[in-house]
Amino acid sequence: MSDSISNEDVQAFRLRARVWLAENMPLEPEQPRSHADAARWPRAKELQRLLFDAGFAGLCFPKEYGGQGLSRAHQQAFDEEVTPYEMPLTLNVPTFGIIAATLLEFGDEVQKKRYLPPILRGDEVWVQLLSEPTGGSDLASVMTRATPDADGFVLSGSKVWSSGAYAADYGICVARTNWDLPKHDGISVLIVKMDEPGVTVERIRGVAGDDEFCQEFFDDVRIPAENVIGQVDAGWTVVRGLLAHERNSMGGASPYVSGGGLVPQSRQDEIVALAQRLDLTEDIRVRQLVAEAHILSLVQDQTSRRVTGAMTRGELGPPAGAILRLMGARVSVRRADIALEIAGAGAGVWPADDPDGGQVGDRFIARQGSELGGGSTEIQRNIISERVLEMPREPAADRGIPFSQVRRNAMPSQQGS
Ligand SMILES: Cc1cc2nc3c(=O)[nH]c(=O)nc-3n(C[C@H](O)[C@H](O)[C@H](O)COP(=O)(O)OP(=O)(O)OC[C@H]3O[C@@H](n4cnc5c(N)ncnc54)[C@H](O)[C@@H]3O)c2cc1C
Repeated sequence: MSDSISNEDVQAFRLRARVWLAENMPLEPEQPRSHADAARWPRAKELQRLLFDAGFAGLCFPKEYGGQGLSRAHQQAFDEEVTPYEMPLTLNVPTFGIIAATLLEFGDEVQKKRYLPPILRGDEVWVQLLSEPTGGSDLASVMTRATPDADGFVLSGSKVWSSGAYAADYGICVARTNWDLPKHDGISVLIVKMDEPGVTVERIRGVAGDDEFCQEFFDDVRIPAENVIGQVDAGWTVVRGLLAHERNSMGGASPYVSGGGLVPQSRQDEIVALAQRLDLTEDIRVRQLVAEAHILSLVQDQTSRRVTGAMTRGELGPPAGAILRLMGARVSVRRADIALEIAGAGAGVWPADDPDGGQVGDRFIARQGSELGGGSTEIQRNIISERVLEMPREPAADRGIPFSQVRRNAMPSQQGS
């Protein structure tokens, strides 16, 4: 791409994108692809390749790693233009918004050149390997171990709730590399090739019938030394950065997430459309619910702009992403409740492909997921109180003592050396 295009102003870029999209991008199908439909992965890769080849992928990633080197304002204009089109939204989280952003921030030059271009082309999908069967909120308590040896590390343990791991080529894994240091200090962040010998991925059936969640087992998986992101034993810095990218992605503040999936207006239309389809637009109670959903979307949109603006100007630090993450989760749950209140309790048993809005019931049943995925709402409240409002930290009995000496509810054979 020539410099004249990379320097083009936002309005010129918007018009160029509008013309290209109209000529090349398919319209969003009337019945959007379900989140549980495995065929969405090859479709997303195909659409991403189309965008990449036309210079509309990775807008805010630097050019040397396959991106376009454009600004957040360009990305926002693009998001507004793509609303009617089918977009590879599946690749946004975690691959673009969390993992590619983390590689960009903490990866070395070799890692950035090796991994970012295939990600932006849609060739390689990634998964987050963070949560463990013993718990996810206290991420610094990871029990999965990466034992150093001559060529790198030997990984053993288990991760769980990993969204889409069955479709992933690579994973970003948080593991303990040193048990003699306090819990935040002996951690490293590793790149794991998901088809490596010793990696087993099992799918978990979710409450709404989908099987997107996975559990992974690592049995002496070899990890080369060059697969460490950041410094060995000092991976907590990387984890904190990754979690900030996660909050931004989930809260609608990440410049690396592309497409209209988080634009409040598009979601608003779903509630209106539901009321229209069910011929309930004259019902006073339904009108109140539609208005409530609309107000929530507007307030979320304004909060997002205000917090994102303050973060961009440096007036608020990265922990402020928790405000958006918290708000996103609360609004998502309330909107799922509103949709069910409009549709009636019977929607809970509508089949997923019911043209009158079969996804209403599934979304209602699975709605608490948005209060857990990407860090729970309670944890976001903790972050806001401790790191945005600077209130005292919650007590922690394990602070400052070697992790191998932390008392925990585990079999002796599972504990550190
Ligand atoms: C839709 C979805 C997608 C996900 N995708 C992934 C993924 O791709 N990769 C991955 O690794 N994980 C993923 N997860 C897991 C997610 O990160 C964890 O569910 C989350 O971090 C909470 O961990 P937990 O479930 O182990 O609950 P726990 O940590 O056991 O917490 C249980 C409850 O206690 C509360 N709690 C815990 N500690 C505190 C505290 N200090 N103060 C107040 N309350 C507290 C929590 O808020 C929660 O309500 C996903 C989860 C969901 C629902």
